[in-house]
Amino acid sequence: MTARILVVDDIETNVKLLEARLMAEYFDVLTANSGESAIAACKQGNVDIVLLDVMMPGLDGFATCERLKADPATQHLPVVMVTALDQPGDRVRGLEAGADDFLTKPVNEVALISRVRSLARLKTLVDELRIRSAAGQEMGVSDPVPTIMHQPGNDGRILLVDDRPSSYDRVVANLGAEHSIDLEVDPHQGVFRAAEGDYELVIVSMGLRDFDSLRLCSQIRSLERTRQVPILVIADPAEEARLVRALDLGVNDYVTRPIDRNELVARVRTQIRRYRYTMQLRETFHQSVEMAVTDPLTGLYNRRYMESHLAQLSRHAAAKSGSLSMLLVDIDYFKAINDTYGHDAGDEVLREFATRLRTNARGVDLVCRFGGEEFVVIMPDTELSMAYVVAERMRAEVAAKPFPIRGGSRAINATISIGVATLDGSTDTPAAMMKRADDALYSAKRDGRNRVVANAA
Ligand code: GH3
Ligand code: MG
Ligand code: MG
Repeated sequence: MTARILVVDDIETNVKLLEARLMAEYFDVLTANSGESAIAACKQGNVDIVLLDVMMPGLDGFATCERLKADPATQHLPVVMVTALDQPGDRVRGLEAGADDFLTKPVNEVALISRVRSLARLKTLVDELRIRSAAGQEMGVSDPVPTIMHQPGNDGRILLVDDRPSSYDRVVANLGAEHSIDLEVDPHQGVFRAAEGDYELVIVSMGLRDFDSLRLCSQIRSLERTRQVPILVIADPAEEARLVRALDLGVNDYVTRPIDRNELVARVRTQIRRYRYTMQLRETFHQSVEMAVTDPLTGLYNRRYMESHLAQLSRHAAAKSGSLSMLLVDIDYFKAINDTYGHDAGDEVLREFATRLRTNARGVDLVCRFGGEEFVVIMPDTELSMAYVVAERMRAEVAAKPFPIRGGSRAINATISIGVATLDGSTDTPAAMMKRADDALYSAKRDGRNRVVANAA
């Protein structure tokens, strides 16, 4: 998914410069030459991230940011302030006005792309959680979604991985007063320490003596327990190429040496605040929605929730001209399993099947039990061909691995049939997509079962 960036600056050449760099990274760019027109553009709802110049006639950047953050319609939009290098106080003022990040002029390319990318990633996640929570609210089972990040971002639990005393002493001196910092001087232990502790941020020094810091970052990103924890790296100015790779690996932010105390403090606070905010969204979603909308046997979402969520997801996909696909999955000859091994064994198969379905899906996919032995997987941002590949992988895995029954004392074979369909353009409806998936499933059953059929509109 590509994000839409609004570049706001009163000087045309500045706009052009940022626009060209962002477009080279395949972002969509909108422009505005004043605070007033920026606010109007944001209210229209087509903006994902705002890059905001500070010095403008009329409404300046601070005032514009304050207004955006005060209006419920726009307060969730991430704002990056673009400040002059010779006005370090502007950064603090920007953050006080509610800005989510800042860049200094002249804008460094790595800084620009990494910060925009990081905010785009965050926005995608937050939008998704907001849609889910809203689906819960529509059904009267969820509290309103927190819309602003009101946490101050201090008192964080931080893990610092650094094996050079000259470097970590400085970081601890800068951050120790407002956070609790655990220091790990053996980088080999870094990922284990990160997984053990309940950290809100991991800081990794790029100049480790005998360990590849990028490897550590990638380990932290791929481990289930630490996947969500933000990572901030401390880099030397000469390491720009490696820094770009670190950001590609999913590192959230960086500071360069020599460390500017204010910048480090602000970036650490921002990362912690964002982390707490997304955790809070997840929590809100989990606590109040989970119970009312899940199927008690499998723990998957139930049909009612799926239908309400699908309506929202398809509106979202249509508005962003994004894709959306679904799988309709049915266990073959399930009645025979019940008849042969008993209803309890049938339940065991359903539970194990639900687990396999869930582990094969991505975090953003919605997996639900549609009823009986029928399941649905809704896949945002997924084309028909990719959905088919996922379906085929699930089919093959189910056919290849027997299902344990009677507490694991024996195992039986089972197969599934899957109908795949995709939302076709902005005028298509979820009901029509569902019908196509159902037709495809019917074909799969008719043609012998244990197969996947995709139905292009
Ligand atoms: P097909 O290959 O055509 O899908 O055949 P099938 O036997 O799987 O399909 P059918 O729809 O005829 O049978 C579905 C069976 O699933 C019938 C029903 O008793 C059983 N079933 C539905 N819900 C549950 C459940 O929660 N637990 C158990 N054990 N069985 C269930
Ligand atoms: Mg069946
Ligand atoms: Mg059936």
